[in-house]
Amino acid sequence: VNEIAYVNGQFVAKADAQVNIEDRGYQFGDGAYEVCTIANGQLLDAQPHVKRLERSLRELRIAMPDLNIEQLCLETAQQNHVEWGIVYIQVSRGVAPRNHAFPDKSVLPAVVITSRSMSYPDVFARGEKGVAVISTPEIRWRRCDIKSIALLPNIMAKQEARDVGAFEAWFVNEDGFVTEGSSTNAWIIRDDTVITHPVTNAILNGITRQVVIRLLEKEGLQLKLRPFTLDEVKQADGAFMTSTTVCVTAVTSIDGVDIADGKVDDRILTIAARYKEHVHSAAG
Ligand code: PMP
Repeated sequence: VNEIAYVNGQFVAKADAQVNIEDRGYQFGDGAYEVCTIANGQLLDAQPHVKRLERSLRELRIAMPDLNIEQLCLETAQQNHVEWGIVYIQVSRGVAPRNHAFPDKSVLPAVVITSRSMSYPDVFARGEKGVAVISTPEIRWRRCDIKSIALLPNIMAKQEARDVGAFEAWFVNEDGFVTEGSSTNAWIIRDDTVITHPVTNAILNGITRQVVIRLLEKEGLQLKLRPFTLDEVKQADGAFMTSTTVCVTAVTSIDGVDIADGKVDDRILTIAARYKEHVHSAAG
């Protein structure tokens, strides 16, 4: 396949795309990123994604590139013939001789955008069937609200899950509360209430999370923003995760313990169906 990447102002063949070995993203994980859905060639929830990128960069004191990010994302998707899939946008602090301290202001942030197709029917089917998760100690930093490209604890946690045949790992902090997944937000349903972690520096405020919160309100489902424990997950009536790439995905077990006897709660199927409609709404 002839994949194309946007790299610092140019569209280039991915095979030929290069970053400097002194890019601070490469050397320090010094940058931020976004992943957006492409639905029928259109960007889903572009504005909240761009706003969150701006926020991440501001918190990291990296200048927001003076670019039409939305337009470049669409172009990258088009160049790659992606009708349904994702775009990945990464902004690093740029290229400078290796030194922890920031480089001079004249050093421009480095921007890379890529895009790939995804099968949404497969994602939705997996989401309705449900997946297994494991718990893992929360070892991340205290600024998980920033969508940083430095993801070592996240990738270690994800692999820990995959090594035991689970799909995702949920971080549990020192107080015994679930914060979020390695690349997803975490939710449970208990009685009539949908519960997820409030927006603090302990989680990434997922765009999918924000959409789902609005959908819950429309469905008349009760929402409680509070942390929940691992025991609560095991005793829940249902559990699920959300993200741009997994949409709404049911969780049927944690650490090998079935949740609600491994049966997906109807309300999760409703939320998943409403989110699916949301994805299709972007497609026009
Ligand atoms: N939490 C973490 C740690 C993530 O990496 C992601 C996905 N990037 C999410 C939550 C979900 O965010 P979104 O719904 O914006 O994809």
